[in-house]
Amino acid sequence: MRVKELGESDLIVTFFTPHRGLLKGVAKAARRSRKRFVNCLDKFSLVSLEYTLKTEGGLCFLHSGKLIDGYPDLRSDFTLLSTASYIIELTEILFPPGVSEPRMFNLVKESLASLTSAERAAAVSTIFEARAMTLGGYRVNLEKCSKCGRAYKGEGIAVFKPEKGGITCLKCEQPSSLHPPMTPDAVSTLEMLQEGSFSASEVDGIADDVMKHLKAVLKLHREYRLEQRLKTSKYLE
Ligand SMILES: [Zn+2]
Repeated sequence: MRVKELGESDLIVTFFTPHRGLLKGVAKAARRSRKRFVNCLDKFSLVSLEYTLKTEGGLCFLHSGKLIDGYPDLRSDFTLLSTASYIIELTEILFPPGVSEPRMFNLVKESLASLTSAERAAAVSTIFEARAMTLGGYRVNLEKCSKCGRAYKGEGIAVFKPEKGGITCLKCEQPSSLHPPMTPDAVSTLEMLQEGSFSASEVDGIADDVMKHLKAVLKLHREYRLEQRLKTSKYLE
């Protein structure tokens, strides 16, 4: 996730694991001797790491590493790199140290692997965001109107209400820029993305207009729920 220099030859490595979540470790002499960590301490890499849990100052001790996938495609383009940064940053916010979630690990892995062209980047980040927010406990409630409780049956326009983290019916709220309308297609697609029944590698299967629509909805949702603008999301815009 992150690599920082420490002293003359060590590196501090922040990494995300399937069963222990976010960890931080020190790789001693990693900058002098590259043998134990051949090409595997670059940001955005899938790596098999050998480490001992918490030694000094809460840091793990990294023994060695082996690169599994360096995702070379995403390193060739600024948009792809920014999207990868966004994926990492949202993961760190939703899953701080001590919170593990194997499904989140797989989502990050799959999303980075799906960043193969700049044209796909926006869609990949939208698919990632919908699922990541759900796994992090911020699912958008799409079943019923969050004001009057009437069930949404997949017909007609629904209105997204960030304050409620859900939708409302047209009687309870009129669409506006702060409360964007959602078509039945947009609602059902978001439902699928939240459930994880649509993976980032299948990005081409979603219509462009629906994708654009969901991007705007998720942006309002994220800003309201996380109460801070992510640094990289500003770049992406
Ligand atoms: Zn209502």
